[in-house]
Amino acid sequence: NCKNPDDVIKAVKEYDVSFIQFWFVDVLGTLKSFQVTPSELDAAFDEGMGFDGSSIEGFSRIHESDMVAIPDPCTFQMVSWRPAEKPVARMFCDIKNPDLTPYEGDSRYVLKRVLKRAAEKGYDFFVGPELEFFLFEDSTAPKGIDVGGYFDAPPLDRANDIRRDIIFALNKMGIQVEYSHHEVAPSQHEIDLRYQEALKMADQAITYRVIVKEIARKHGCYATFMPKPLFGENGSGMHVHQSLFKNGKNAFYDPKGEFNLSSDGKSYIAGLLTHAKELTAVCNQWVNSYKRLVPGYEAPVYVAWARRNRSSLVRVPMYKPGKEEATRVELRSPDPACNLYLAFASMLAAGLEGMEAGYSLPAPVEEDIFEMNVQERAKHGIDSLPGSLHEAVNELSKSSVIREALGDHIFNKFVENKIIEWDNYRIQITEYELNKYLPVL
Ligand code: GLU
Ligand code: MG
Ligand code: MG
Repeated sequence: NCKNPDDVIKAVKEYDVSFIQFWFVDVLGTLKSFQVTPSELDAAFDEGMGFDGSSIEGFSRIHESDMVAIPDPCTFQMVSWRPAEKPVARMFCDIKNPDLTPYEGDSRYVLKRVLKRAAEKGYDFFVGPELEFFLFEDSTAPKGIDVGGYFDAPPLDRANDIRRDIIFALNKMGIQVEYSHHEVAPSQHEIDLRYQEALKMADQAITYRVIVKEIARKHGCYATFMPKPLFGENGSGMHVHQSLFKNGKNAFYDPKGEFNLSSDGKSYIAGLLTHAKELTAVCNQWVNSYKRLVPGYEAPVYVAWARRNRSSLVRVPMYKPGKEEATRVELRSPDPACNLYLAFASMLAAGLEGMEAGYSLPAPVEEDIFEMNVQERAKHGIDSLPGSLHEAVNELSKSSVIREALGDHIFNKFVENKIIEWDNYRIQITEYELNKYLPVL
């Protein structure tokens, strides 16, 4: 039910829409928005709306800062948390150069380009992300609102009504939810979106992050997707379930294949594993992301795959083994504070690389890798994910697969930005150091 420009203009009249928000993201995936009045819409669809790109992170330099945003009518939705009276709508935009050619700093364009590469071979990429988050009293300190744990029900779960309102707000914007629950850490929650074509899902997941924050605010608390806000507790991950469809059939499924996986499925996983260290910076883009990827908190640390083992980086879930539609690959390292377009693009590029080059799948590791010592890991050939943003950016900067997926512009801007972030971080003197060293040194 994709709308065209005329449908959008009709709907705007019919619902008496007051403003249309034009959405896009910067190189770090932060949502940017400007508001357009209904009278501008016609021209916006034809010629786009001009704006100054020089203040958008990862966009142009000053001397070439004129950018154009063209709204994608398929993404037209009423903004569900804004007033019902004189409502507000939103559309995601494609960012163009003044001559209306695609702008290579546009993250959405990056994902579209990799999706096209898959589509040229007949594959459609579907993803189902699980974005976890914490609810705190406010943004000044990580002070939770409950002490519940995994699957806890009220009264331990104090966010029942918040999750309910979030889900209704998502549904109103055409976003389907599979289930929701209290997560392992106190005041941590998860709402799983029903799997969807990747571009649509990236748009939806961005909307999800806004809705979670806005509804939490209406309930007087603060929602955060910070990967690891609490020392000693689980962090917030974003497992991404992935599948490729070809001619309407699940390309990862083969009832006669080992593990019920087709050769496409196997080499896709091998691609994810082979390029895992390179795509980590994109899927885990903050200094804080690496406080989550440590042993002991259900987040992956080692590069391996498995069917049951939740310590592994890639899992082929066993909920409905041998069921075609349920066959999928789950990447467990990403966190929900990533640039969703770039993350989905990088995963797909790694998997496609595996398929195109015919990588072979190593044996699954069902033993608990966290129990193994260095020698045992070496014997199994198990590598580790980068341990810091610094290591991750080093891995990324050597990657031709991810450079090709992101394009030179975004690749360079991203690496540049992350080197600065690391340099700012490494000169900080932390509370840990003061407590540990000042009294004794
Ligand atoms: N919160 C865990 C993580 O950091 C994931 C827990 C789970 O959903 O199984 O990835
Ligand atoms: Mg979870
Ligand atoms: Mg999961």
